[in-house]
Amino acid sequence: MAHAKEILQIGDVSLTLDEAEETLNAIRGGRVDAVVVDGIGGEEVFTFRDPSHPFRLLVEAMNEGAMLTSADGIISYQNPWLSRLVGIPGEQMQGRSLLELVTPETRTAAETLLRQAGEGTPARGNVDLVAANGAPLPVLLSVSCACLADVEVLCVVVTDLTEQQRQETLYGMARVQIEERDRLFAVASHELRNPLNVLDLQARLLGALIEASEDGAPLPTDRALGMVSKLRIQARRLGQLVTNLLDVGSIGAGRLALDLEDVDLSELVRSAMDLCRDEIDRSRSRVSLELTPVRGRWDRVRIEQIIDNLVSNAAKYGGGLPIRVFVEQHGDTARLGVEDQGRGIPQEARERIFRPFERVSQGAPVPGLGIGLYVTSQIVKSHGGRISVQPGTQGGSLFLVELPIAGPG
Ligand code: ADP
Repeated sequence: MAHAKEILQIGDVSLTLDEAEETLNAIRGGRVDAVVVDGIGGEEVFTFRDPSHPFRLLVEAMNEGAMLTSADGIISYQNPWLSRLVGIPGEQMQGRSLLELVTPETRTAAETLLRQAGEGTPARGNVDLVAANGAPLPVLLSVSCACLADVEVLCVVVTDLTEQQRQETLYGMARVQIEERDRLFAVASHELRNPLNVLDLQARLLGALIEASEDGAPLPTDRALGMVSKLRIQARRLGQLVTNLLDVGSIGAGRLALDLEDVDLSELVRSAMDLCRDEIDRSRSRVSLELTPVRGRWDRVRIEQIIDNLVSNAAKYGGGLPIRVFVEQHGDTARLGVEDQGRGIPQEARERIFRPFERVSQGAPVPGLGIGLYVTSQIVKSHGGRISVQPGTQGGSLFLVELPIAGPG
């Protein structure tokens, strides 16, 4: 019998345990708001949710950073979102100053926000927080003053501006690109019209001469050949402008493809000289070539384009004085130099002329788009080389191109 009694007692205990466990699970699952317990002085109510619970939930779950600080910025609370944003665990943030979390550059701005809010004026402003990895993190701080248990505290809401700043940067870049394109169209249509007008005029004059000769007048061959030469110069100028224009587009889109082969730089100088022969003749500059064979892995057409652009410029800006073109080898680098004795390039412009549309306004106006040197420098760069300009030995300028013989890395 005693045995049966014990079994009954064990049954009671396990029933009580089951009930207790069920109650605990209900509490854990948030299904119980309060329990009523028989106390010494009667029933007592123990609540699990205080009235501020929804607000705390809001702050903990919201998709913005929030913190409470003292009037001088010492952090007493921060929500999990903020800890995640800066990558610093909550317990390591509490007790630190908010001012320690901002970059030195934006510290004054943060101090101003705290001071204004402390004086009773809610304040908003942008600062950069320092993330755990040291990177600056752009945020908007909204700071207002409140009273917590008779103590003045600052409530700070932190909004991450990283994405907004990324969008603004992209928008700014797109605007610059659109402005550059508009400028390109404006300059290009103006510059293309000039050679087209000359082409049109010379073609008409030549046509009139030929018609007159058909009516029996003698054909002035020298004059006709002069016109043909002008036609060729203008047609070539048009071609050069169009090539450079198309290249500006390809460079912008990152599509400046190279067709590499084993070539001799001196040979390329000779073939490129044929391209600009008419311009050189017209400029009356005498060109001396100092060439040593230097073989390298380069794009034949692109290197000819570099030489063509530099020699055409020397003819354009060289004032009819001698031009020197040289090729030499220095270790594993090939050097191409184009030197004139013309108007030269002031120190202030020696870097910027390699940027798009940059021109120097000194001297008599010379037609041009201001993109030849930009395209040239991009071709040099895509070959792993460098281009620079310095005063020439006899005045004027010396453009120096250095190309690794092994080709681009
Ligand atoms: P463009 O000649 O069509 O203006 P470039 O990009 O070839 O364009 O040259 C940019 C500017 O650099 C020119 O407008 C000119 O002011 C200056 N420049 C280029 N080459 C020379 C040179 N050999 N001598 C003096 N100035 C030059």
